[in-house]
Amino acid sequence: MAKKGSLIVISGFSGVGKGTVVKKMVAEYGYSLSVSATTRAPREGEVDGREYYFKSVDEFRNLIDYNGFIEWAQYVENYYGTPRKFVEDEMAKGHDVILEIEVQGAMNVREQYPDAILIFITAPSAKGLRERLAGRGTESEEVIDKRMRRAVEESEDMQQYDYIVVNDDLDTCVHSVHSIIVGRKCLRENN
Ligand code: 5GP
Repeated sequence: MAKKGSLIVISGFSGVGKGTVVKKMVAEYGYSLSVSATTRAPREGEVDGREYYFKSVDEFRNLIDYNGFIEWAQYVENYYGTPRKFVEDEMAKGHDVILEIEVQGAMNVREQYPDAILIFITAPSAKGLRERLAGRGTESEEVIDKRMRRAVEESEDMQQYDYIVVNDDLDTCVHSVHSIIVGRKCLRENN
């Protein structure tokens, strides 16, 4: 029987570039990426089923009721959740699956999957974060303020992750995250 794949949780402050890190990990190393469901409106260029499954609040609640999520959480003004079926099917096939989720979801995953590898991506400075969020031009000033406040709360939870990686240079960050995963899996297999 094929060995079960690992669950890799990647979190990080809004604007830290974790989406880009994750996309590169999929392209370069072949990780499976879980596409979350959300009640947030699509940003320009986002496609339903690619960045997210965009749902109404009622549709999202229905999925919760039918146990359709491994975990779900409220972040700033919206709900986000990890669809159960894709993750379980991929892991059963032996694929390593990345979840790009916020901290409440990450803690929830850790309880259910104690072997999950939790990695937090951080920025070299808080100033750069706000600039990146503002430069993205996808959120209002008010939402940026809320996301920055959430980043302060998240920096306390960051301590609970297995690894913290600074995204100073994209390629170095992607390589570090991949090395961490390879190392952890190697440790696990030899124990
Ligand atoms: P954004 O609106 O910027 O795409 O995402 C906001 C936050 O929600 C990010 O921290 C992102 O990692 C998190 N997120 C995305 N999908 C999920 C999910 O399925 N579950 C949880 N708990 N958080 C998610």
